Amino acid sequence: MPLQTRSRNSAHALGGSIITSPYPTAQSVEDFRSNLAAVRERIAAACARVGRAPAEVRLLPVSKTVSEARIRLAYAAGCRELGENKVQEASRKAEAMADLTDLRWSVIGHLQTNKAKVVARFASEFQALDNLRGAEALDRRLQAEGRALDVLVQVNTSGETSKFGLPPDDVPGFVRELPAFSSLRVRGLMTLALLSADPARVRPCFILLRELRERVRQAAPAGIAMDELSMGMSGDFELAVEEGATVVRVGQAIFGARELPDSHYWPEAGSSSEQRS
Ligand SMILES: *Cc1c(COP(=O)(O)O)cnc(C)c1O
Repeated sequence: MPLQTRSRNSAHALGGSIITSPYPTAQSVEDFRSNLAAVRERIAAACARVGRAPAEVRLLPVSKTVSEARIRLAYAAGCRELGENKVQEASRKAEAMADLTDLRWSVIGHLQTNKAKVVARFASEFQALDNLRGAEALDRRLQAEGRALDVLVQVNTSGETSKFGLPPDDVPGFVRELPAFSSLRVRGLMTLALLSADPARVRPCFILLRELRERVRQAAPAGIAMDELSMGMSGDFELAVEEGATVVRVGQAIFGARELPDSHYWPEAGSSSEQRS
């Protein structure tokens, strides 16, 4: 990304020295436009390195913890879909912003079965499917609403016990069960990579997901699409794009740093792994 784009927002004069935050808070439509453009530029550069077309990569802005007022600025800057980790937070926001009729909501965090009804009402996508009870509950609620939902199967590619998602070896068998749930439109796989600042440890998670997609594809039942790979966040989306991501979920690089620690969203995150720098 061009250096100016970042430093214009992020350099704060403090006591005569300059402190640079990697994720300054976007406060205006203009900030959002430039952050979105910067992320898209970095996606395009990653694509160019491996001979992919940038149009193959969908940017899903992640708005967890972000206030309605700031989300409306992002909408004004062109965001038409948002990812949220928690069902209650997402549905509250979707309701408050129901006037933005072309705004779509993607739930990207763990679903408790008793919240399936809520997701079936407002979400247009669910990226964290990892158990049959959840699939069954969602399908039943969707039937009742007369709706269908795009879903991705979440895979634990890092081997960390604290993460949600199926172990890779369980995925082919799990996917074979999914045609039973006719309101779920299965699109592909999703993962969270290892939380590490070291690309040599992060990249293998993305490679694993891509290779798993090929395995699952060969055995996939009719009607199950396995095209999407949702992988990569603010700290690692360029690596993910290089390894084949078709969806990147980017929060802080668009909205700014979050105050809540990630452990609020990923139970036990950080307790079993080093943190990103
Ligand atoms: C928060 C979150 C992201 C985005 O993380 P950033 O560091 O804000 O880019 C991506 N995926 C999931 C599942 C998340 O909960």
